[in-house]
Amino acid sequence: MAEMTDKIAIKQDVVTKAIKTRHYIHAHPELSGQEFETTKLITKKLLELGITPLDLPLVTGVVADIGDSNKGPTIALRADMDALPIVEATDLLYASETLGVMHACGHDFHTSSLLAAAEVLKKHEDNLKGRIRFVFQPAEETNHGARELIKAGTLKDVAAIIGFHNKPDLPVGTIGFKNEALMAAVDQFAVRIIGTGTHAAAPQNGKDPIVTASQIVANAQAIISRYIAPTDSAVLSVTHIQGGNTWNVIPSDVFFEGTIRTFDETVRQKVKQLFADTISHTTALYGQSFEIEWIPGTPALYNDTDLGVIVKDVVSDFAKYQETGLTLGGEDFANYVHLIPGFFVFIGTGTPFEWHNPEFTVNDAAFPYAIAYYVNTSLRLLRHFN
Ligand SMILES: [Zn+2]
Ligand SMILES: [Zn+2]
Repeated sequence: MAEMTDKIAIKQDVVTKAIKTRHYIHAHPELSGQEFETTKLITKKLLELGITPLDLPLVTGVVADIGDSNKGPTIALRADMDALPIVEATDLLYASETLGVMHACGHDFHTSSLLAAAEVLKKHEDNLKGRIRFVFQPAEETNHGARELIKAGTLKDVAAIIGFHNKPDLPVGTIGFKNEALMAAVDQFAVRIIGTGTHAAAPQNGKDPIVTASQIVANAQAIISRYIAPTDSAVLSVTHIQGGNTWNVIPSDVFFEGTIRTFDETVRQKVKQLFADTISHTTALYGQSFEIEWIPGTPALYNDTDLGVIVKDVVSDFAKYQETGLTLGGEDFANYVHLIPGFFVFIGTGTPFEWHNPEFTVNDAAFPYAIAYYVNTSLRLLRHFN
């Protein structure tokens, strides 16, 4: 039997097929939790490769294994598969055929890369020193998918998990890399300030919630600038505010919502507490009341430092790796690495528009790097955990 090497070159026919698959998925995007056709497509393609998906209680998403757990550990490779409620504004030949839904985060690229990696690794199945689990995850954008997959048993027996996201501002051939904190903990809030409505000309007869909400929104910015160390990273953004519906009536209530992003758990709790205090004290000052709802988001994504040594060594064989900074975006891959060691990198796609932009694109020239990342990192990790 030939000795299994950690380095498999990605052949052009594999890349060509991955490009075709991506263009098809891009033209047929599905929203978070509704990835029914994408699930069918992935299942069909895996079956064609001779890989039977695991029978897990999932509505959408696919998990499948190759290899043998008697020979060694299980390493999971994760790709997300959902699209966004955005009207596509590219002029691609394979642009979305579903109006108002678009793969504007490049999850079509992630899914196609993982399918290609499955094809490559399946050919070497007999020589694998353990088991590789392919995780096609739904609903990343709504932060439900990872948690559902975990609940369904996806992490059972998994020693480590790796994943990636495309990155438009990194050139093709570059892999963005960072140990420890990479992406932020995401908290979402929805607040209602309840006052008393009255005539615009007689504010003394009511309790104006617009003035109260305005003060809260403005003063909340001092939480980050005055109470959090400048060396810690945090952001608080109010992104939606609604109150009243005409010019001469003070409304009875005002709604606003937004998000807090942090990395450190102590900072996270402090910002949340100070924000809640700002709301309760300001409303109390004016004799008003409030409701606040916290919608739980992803934890911060912390890359495992030991895995980092291995990943860095593997990727520097075929790509230029570049230390990357913190990203205040969230990524629900964080739910996995909250439980088991994992590593997440950015694969450069060198395109002009950022994630979630209606003109967002992925450069297919990045495929060899994404596929090689999955294939060669998983082989090395099998050896490492053996
Ligand atoms: Zn996204
Ligand atoms: Zn994404």
